[in-house]
Amino acid sequence: MNTHSERKASEQKSKSSLCVEDPPQLAAGRFSEEPEGKRFIADAMLGKLARWMRTLGYDVEYEKSIGDEELVKRALDEDRLIITRDTLLIKRRKVRGRFFFVKSDEAAGQLKEITGQFKPPEGLFLTRCLRCNTALIDADKKDMEGKVPPYVFKTQEHFSVCTRCGRIYWGGTHRARMVEELERMLKGEGG
Ligand SMILES: [Zn+2]
Repeated sequence: MNTHSERKASEQKSKSSLCVEDPPQLAAGRFSEEPEGKRFIADAMLGKLARWMRTLGYDVEYEKSIGDEELVKRALDEDRLIITRDTLLIKRRKVRGRFFFVKSDEAAGQLKEITGQFKPPEGLFLTRCLRCNTALIDADKKDMEGKVPPYVFKTQEHFSVCTRCGRIYWGGTHRARMVEELERMLKGEGG
C-alpha cells in the first residue's frame, strides 16, 4: 500500500497538509478509532476553539454552560484532557496532569498551540459534527432529497449526517472556505 507517499505527494502539491482536493474520506465505520487516541474537553470559554478542533477531526466535548465541577467530573469519567485558560481550575488537585493550558486569548493562536502540541488526526478533516462532536456517517444522496435546499441537492454528490443531532453536511464552497480560514489561522502571525 502506498497511501503514505501519496499523501506526501498531495501535500507537496498543495503546499499544505489541508488539501481541498483531498477526498473527505467519509466512509462509514472508519470513525471508531481515534488515531492519536486522545480525547479532549474544552472549558466554557473555549467554544470557538472547540469548533475548529472538531473541524480538524479532534474529539473535543464542549458545553457552553458547563460548571467547573461537572467539567472535571466528565474529564475523569470519560478520560478526556481538559483544555482551559482558567488559572484557578488548573490548581484543583483532580485536574493535576490532566489539562492543557492555552495561553492565547484568540482562537487562531489557541488552535496553533493545540496543533503544535497534539498532531491533528489524519484523514479526519470535517468528519465530526461541529455542533455536537459526534462522528459523521456517509449518507445516500437519494435520502437527502427534501432535507437539504433544492440547489444543494442538485449540485452536491456527497453528504454526511450526524446521527445524534441530525445535522447534514456537504462539501462544495463551505469546505473550501473552511480550509482557507484554517490555513489563515494556522499560518498567520498573530492573525
Ligand atoms: Zn451533531
